[in-house]
Amino acid sequence: MIQIKKVAVCGAGGTMGAGIALVAARAGFETVCFDKFPAGLARSRKAAATFFGRSVERGRMSQADCDAALARMQDSTNLADLAGCDLVIEAIFESLEVKRALFTELNTICKPGTIFASNTSTLSITQIAGGCGREDQVVGMHFCLPAQLMKLIEMSRGQNTSNDAFAAAWAWTEAAGQLPVETQDKPGFILNALLVPFNNDVIRAIEAGLATPEDIDIAVRSGLGYKIGPCTLIDLIGLDTQILLGEAFYPITLDRRASVPPLLRRMVAAGKLGNKSGQGFLTGLKPERATNAPSYRIVSAGESRSFPAGDAFLSNGVATADITIHLGGGYVADASKIAVLVELETECLGVHTGEDSGREGSNAVGFARYRNGNDAPSKLVELVRQPATSADALAAARAIFEVQGQDVVVCADQPGRIVDRLVRPKYNDALRFLDEGLASAADMDKTCCLGLGYPDGPIERVTRGGLARHFDVSKAIHDMTGLLGYLPARRAVVAKAREGALGAITVVA
Ligand code: NAD
Repeated sequence: MIQIKKVAVCGAGGTMGAGIALVAARAGFETVCFDKFPAGLARSRKAAATFFGRSVERGRMSQADCDAALARMQDSTNLADLAGCDLVIEAIFESLEVKRALFTELNTICKPGTIFASNTSTLSITQIAGGCGREDQVVGMHFCLPAQLMKLIEMSRGQNTSNDAFAAAWAWTEAAGQLPVETQDKPGFILNALLVPFNNDVIRAIEAGLATPEDIDIAVRSGLGYKIGPCTLIDLIGLDTQILLGEAFYPITLDRRASVPPLLRRMVAAGKLGNKSGQGFLTGLKPERATNAPSYRIVSAGESRSFPAGDAFLSNGVATADITIHLGGGYVADASKIAVLVELETECLGVHTGEDSGREGSNAVGFARYRNGNDAPSKLVELVRQPATSADALAAARAIFEVQGQDVVVCADQPGRIVDRLVRPKYNDALRFLDEGLASAADMDKTCCLGLGYPDGPIERVTRGGLARHFDVSKAIHDMTGLLGYLPARRAVVAKAREGALGAITVVA
């Protein structure tokens, strides 16, 4: 196996290349920082000095190691300087033609054993390698932003990549202190294949009037424990970049969820690109939490998923209260109350109140505390409003739960509310990817935890929550929306069948 001692980073004047060069130099490798434009290289060199300097200030690195790492980085705008490198990592523009041209030219410059790695997010490693003259020595090496801080690397082989080249590149990532996972050469590998459609779903939910971007972020962080809310992430990635990702994915996958949502195009046309332009989905508005709440009366029709037996919430009810809370199903209209709260499962609030005229249930508020299967209920309470729901009823419901310490969001009476609507297609994707051999369950989960800050990966979470339960929730949303993303994945159908609950299984084309 080739021993990698000297590394080159192409595109070192750009965002990803600058970070990758830091990773290589920090780990002790001679690093040629190559870019077409010297101005970018100068920027990156300054950033490198600042980054390593901060590491010294924080006691993570000695001054001598800092000086040595900077000395190992050699800037170049001359491709011939890469001749002696053992590994070349390209992080240049996301263009098949430009990347192929670079590798073809490098093939005439570098020694026969040099491995070429591509940091592409969306392109095929096999296509990038095609015709470059050393297809067997090209690998996918997808770093996460910012590369100098994120440990995850998605590694993939092209159709012609040799085991030796892949093993040597893999060993290098470990020697550089990174954490590699193996994925197939498929659009978006693991991380973007799960993230791009998920982000588009979030944008479509906003466009459909499901909830505000702020509430979507609260719901996902509180209900699922993600470190960063999806709207914050889209604003950070850039709305223009999210368009490019959708445009790259949709023609290859023909997955409608990957196609660019119209709202995204309108936002970009209006100059709202996210953090880089100062305006994106989030407005920065934060409503104050309630400190006082009205008293409530509890009516139990059955077991509650939100407040299981023994929960203190159940013992604080007052018989004469102006708010009624129906737990475990059931609803009795009572216009004399400020609010009548109805605990929901997968059904819409309209099932209880009716909605023929659109004015029913003006004091009715649906709610559910998010819970993954039989995990303990999360802190998240999703309130459900109908068109005529009064502001007073919503405010009373919000106050009751916020005073109990819950995080409260409001959404329209749409299938899946916020969390299930957004997360169930992702679970179906992950389960299908597992069937298709994209990656192992462990690597898929590791990718989401390390690359996206999830507390647990989609496979672990959906399995823990129960695949049969996933079938129920996903199918309920699919029945109402007809959207393919909610069609339960095969593993969920199998789990449901094994419960003996499915007679003849209907496969929807
Ligand atoms: P960028 O525009 O910030 O940087 C690209 C750099 O490549 C620029 O400095 C440019 O001068 C240089 N360059 C372009 N053509 C060149 C050539 N022929 N030879 C040498 N240098 C050339 O882009 P970026 O965001 O760093 O993305 C680079 C690659 O990394 C893309 O393939 C992208 O898909 C991938 N990627 C990006 C992210 C991200 O979050 N930005 C994450 C993972 C992977």
